[in-house]
Amino acid sequence: MNLTHHGGSCGHSCCLRVENLSVKIGADDILKDVNLHVHCGELVALIGPNGAGKSTFLKAILGQREYEGVIAFSEPGQRSKKPRIGYVPQSPAFDPSDPVSVADLFACCMSRRPAFLGLGKSMRQTVLDCLSRVHGEDLIDKRVGTLSGGELQRVLLALALEPMPNILILDEPLSGVDVEGMQTLMDMLDEIRKNYDLSILMTTHDFSLLRQYADQVVLIDHAVLIQGPPDRVLDSEEFHRTFHLRGGSV
Ligand code: ADP
Ligand code: MG
Repeated sequence: MNLTHHGGSCGHSCCLRVENLSVKIGADDILKDVNLHVHCGELVALIGPNGAGKSTFLKAILGQREYEGVIAFSEPGQRSKKPRIGYVPQSPAFDPSDPVSVADLFACCMSRRPAFLGLGKSMRQTVLDCLSRVHGEDLIDKRVGTLSGGELQRVLLALALEPMPNILILDEPLSGVDVEGMQTLMDMLDEIRKNYDLSILMTTHDFSLLRQYADQVVLIDHAVLIQGPPDRVLDSEEFHRTFHLRGGSV
């Protein structure tokens, strides 16, 4: 992981601190001077137009992009620590005719045993325990390619929660998910952040649930245009200008 760990405190419990983060690709400034503190139990939504640098920001935190600036994580009583990061990528497309089941997917990711040998009894129980975190035990024998958008996101989420991370990162988890599925997924993230000691950082193009679920919203377009509580950002001139909205509210 490409994290630079610094001590220091911002007066809260465990915290992901991003300070003056800049990312260049070639000569282009993809991100410039981004600052963000995320505390344990907080859900932070990153929004912005296509190409704004949202995924790049997540990749810098994941250690997959070179950057300038500081990305640090600290917990109370400890100066700094290498965080465990759980990552739910933008929904991969699975072929509906592919025979791979949810159990096979877990077996590939969690076990050294070849998937064609099937799951041992104790491994199957471990997978069921993981799926129970997203209320998805009934999905274990379904083919991955036949899952709905919301079900697939829940399975990927269950995978990202084993082992339990300090920071959970999701890139566009709501895209391709119907309205009911979105609510279910956001309820699940809400439950997870309350039950476990973790921070959630997600990107989204869907603004309808942010007032209900997000603690902070960050509007970026290569640089931060505005950040703060959802009401402040979603009612701002910057938000309306960026998304060409006239009047009305989200
Ligand atoms: P977003 O997730 O907000 O849509 P991205 O972070 O994916 O935006 O991309 C931000 C900008 O960086 C885009 O202009 C994109 O073309 C560029 N970019 C991202 N990854 C690469 C790469 N590997 N090589 C060149 N340009 C890239
Ligand atoms: Mg993206």
